[in-house]
Amino acid sequence: MALSKDKKRPRLSLADRILNRMELEVDKPYQFWWKESGRSRSTPLHDPEITSKMEKTLSNQVDDNLQQVENGHTVLHFNYQGLSELPSQLFTDEKYRHLRRMHLKRNRLKTLPDLLGELSNLTELYLHSNDLIKLPDSIGKLKQLKSLDLSNNNLSSLPDTITDLENLSVLAVSNNKIHDLPKGFDKMRRLTVLDLMNNHLRYLPLEVIECPHLQRLLLDRNHLTWLPKQLCRMKSLVELSVAGNDLIMLPLDLGHIPTLRTVFVDNNKCLHALPLSLQNQEIGFNSCGTKNFNATGHQHISPLSVRVKHDDGVKVIYLPPELLHIGNKEDSVVTLLELATRQVFKERHNLSLRELPVNLKSSMCEPTASCVACQRHLFTDGFPLVFEGQIRLYSLHYLSLCCSMNCMRIASVLIQLPVVYPEPTDLGQVLALVN
Ligand SMILES: [Zn+2]
Repeated sequence: MALSKDKKRPRLSLADRILNRMELEVDKPYQFWWKESGRSRSTPLHDPEITSKMEKTLSNQVDDNLQQVENGHTVLHFNYQGLSELPSQLFTDEKYRHLRRMHLKRNRLKTLPDLLGELSNLTELYLHSNDLIKLPDSIGKLKQLKSLDLSNNNLSSLPDTITDLENLSVLAVSNNKIHDLPKGFDKMRRLTVLDLMNNHLRYLPLEVIECPHLQRLLLDRNHLTWLPKQLCRMKSLVELSVAGNDLIMLPLDLGHIPTLRTVFVDNNKCLHALPLSLQNQEIGFNSCGTKNFNATGHQHISPLSVRVKHDDGVKVIYLPPELLHIGNKEDSVVTLLELATRQVFKERHNLSLRELPVNLKSSMCEPTASCVACQRHLFTDGFPLVFEGQIRLYSLHYLSLCCSMNCMRIASVLIQLPVVYPEPTDLGQVLALVN
């Protein structure tokens, strides 16, 4: 849609000529949009004749599309129509029951009728860039739905019934105001892509992690401070994107997910270290670790941390919240709780949960990490070992845990990176002790 550069405000004759080009973005009062020097510009079309023609053109197009569906088409194109509500016959008339795809991008819909659930053959529903504030519970009746795009709306929550969409493969809810996710995400057994970027999430429910085929988990620009260790159990995850959150640590065994290819954690200002398990992964880590985290009011954050010296001062590297005890050269014996949990975890298939003390129940489901030297599962005790590394030209720290002083010695030799915690002198004493 080219426009002469010397005319900042197009003449109506030009707008008139393009009335029939329906990729034109419209709004009331109708705007004519064009690109100038790479920037979007617009001018309102105030002429009543033009406005009337525009409305007529859009109205005709809605009618034409409905007519096509009545003639057997299974796809309805209502993108860019300026609609604030959908034609009621879509949901009440049997003629439209065979619809399989509905494209409703860039309209002005605030709600959808509860009769939406009548379109039971829908497989794709695109509602990108509307004004939706709520979804009807009946959306859960769309059992054939495979792709649902709700991006760029005003949703602050999703109905519980959305988890009834057991055939859903792609769920896009980016650029909304979602605080919490409904319970029962694990019922969506076929979900492969979950896009929750740019919302208000403070935690990630464990049920999301239970979706067995989830390949792309996109959580950029939320308010997450940590990710559950159960994430490491995901069997199909290929891409994890958590850029622009408030993360202070990542699950230590994240890099052990066999399918994982890319991890983006850029712009998490308080994230000072990556798990050593991610050492050979493709990872985005720009603008991380530029400030220390203020833990006040964050009860779930582990009080345990290690401090490493850095060019900019001292950096605080937080340890997993499940860790209760740090081993060191003065205290190299693991606690009875740790020994008991390790044993219980080994025997978990033969034990009844009812027979166990509460503090063992919570730990036995998922290890906190694996020892970097011997791969033994760790739960409440660990010996932190921090290395200095580099991604491209950017220096960073890698955090790992060992199960014992002996494994710490082995790991410090096995991993071909400089150790920055414990202090080299302490590690030397460790070496002396074990030798
Ligand atoms: Zn070990």
